Amino acid sequence: MPPDRIVIVGGGVVGSSIAWHLRTGGFEGEVVVVERDPTYRRASSFLAMGGVRQQFGSAANIRLAQYSVRFYERFDNAMRTPEHRPRAWFRQRGYLFLANDDNAGRLERRYERQRALGARVERVDVDAIRSLVPDLAVDDLRFGVFGPDDGYANPREVLAGFRHAAAAAGAACVTGEVTHLGVAAGRVRGVTLQDGTELEARAVVNAAGPFAARLAALADLELPVQPVRQHLFRCALPHRWPYRFPVVIDPGGVHWRHDDPVVSGDPDRIIVARTRLDEPPGENFECDRDRWTGDFRPPLLARLPAFEAAELVEGWAGLYEMTPDHNPLLGEHPQLEGFYLANGFSGHGLMMAPATGAALAELLTTGASTRVDIRAFDPGRFARGTEFRDDAMI
Ligand SMILES: Cc1cc2nc3c(=O)[nH]c(=O)nc-3n(C[C@H](O)[C@H](O)[C@H](O)COP(=O)(O)OP(=O)(O)OC[C@H]3O[C@@H](n4cnc5c(N)ncnc54)[C@H](O)[C@@H]3O)c2cc1C
Repeated sequence: MPPDRIVIVGGGVVGSSIAWHLRTGGFEGEVVVVERDPTYRRASSFLAMGGVRQQFGSAANIRLAQYSVRFYERFDNAMRTPEHRPRAWFRQRGYLFLANDDNAGRLERRYERQRALGARVERVDVDAIRSLVPDLAVDDLRFGVFGPDDGYANPREVLAGFRHAAAAAGAACVTGEVTHLGVAAGRVRGVTLQDGTELEARAVVNAAGPFAARLAALADLELPVQPVRQHLFRCALPHRWPYRFPVVIDPGGVHWRHDDPVVSGDPDRIIVARTRLDEPPGENFECDRDRWTGDFRPPLLARLPAFEAAELVEGWAGLYEMTPDHNPLLGEHPQLEGFYLANGFSGHGLMMAPATGAALAELLTTGASTRVDIRAFDPGRFARGTEFRDDAMI
């Protein structure tokens, strides 16, 4: 009989959230989180933008995001421990998608679907857009879709909050790299670390983020998760901006959020993103500064000319964990009993981490996830042909 132990490989927001939910949700066995790099320098959780939104195009994603929005509203209190006080500061300033002639039909349809599915979204006219973001160039705009409950949190604080809270709740955190998955009679039996430590387990959870396919390959399994580079740039604004921005998404894809000063007197800043659809897959962390001048800055200035005076502070690149349909893989691997996947968030893992933690913890404890419906994300969907696209990916 293997010990009643669950090993979670990867201590980013996803692995740590699962560990916290297991420890606080009634699982009575041992929970071990194995993380190879406690600096998290290359973890997506550490490099993310922090956006959290309900504006998706499928019921399955909206449900996950709604759970997470409610969770982030109380995150700083819920994750507080005697040793650690998180300051994730979930700022519900809304997500504002802008519609012009090119994307109006798509946004309109998505808005109708989101309403029907119970997401809190509003269709706003150009005057309302102007009052939300007074400096915006609006001549080409037809309307906007605004999700007032949505917003953003500080990703590093979310990561630290989950990690400390999981440890305080009794999860063991081990530093080491999993280099071997033990398998016998079609079942995972545990893991071996690079230093030779063996950990038997009744279940192993793959929470290795963009490295998930590498981990699965240790058991000769192919996982449809590819690392794809994503850039972010931080700019200092020339003065304290007279209002706070929602997350603004231009029809051409460039989007930004406020980055409030932590110390009073520091300048206001913004973090700017734009996904390059033809970015080749690979573990590429190199920041290409030309992307700022070439792809980011021109559309940003066209949409908000007063950003002309904004100064680039830094740029960085991290890895999205992309699946073929851009939806996560949540649940037991169809070919390996006891091997559970929480992978392939395709750029949305920070916002999905709370719901994923709740779902996986319940699934691992009772065999079913009843609080959060994750059936659509079943890892076997590609083989069955039931994959689905969500048109609200940015
Ligand atoms: C630039 C950028 C912007 C983003 N913006 C957003 C956003 O606005 N909103 C949002 O929701 N999401 C965003 N994301 C996506 C989000 O960051 C990820 O989906 C999420 O962080 C995934 O968390 P994770 O815990 O699965 O992975 P990670 O944070 O990458 O953690 C995985 C961990 O596993 C460890 N590991 C891997 N293999 C092993 C092994 N063999 N042994 C031991 N440890 C191992 C790694 O060291 C790593 O620490 C963004 C991502 C990037 C790169």
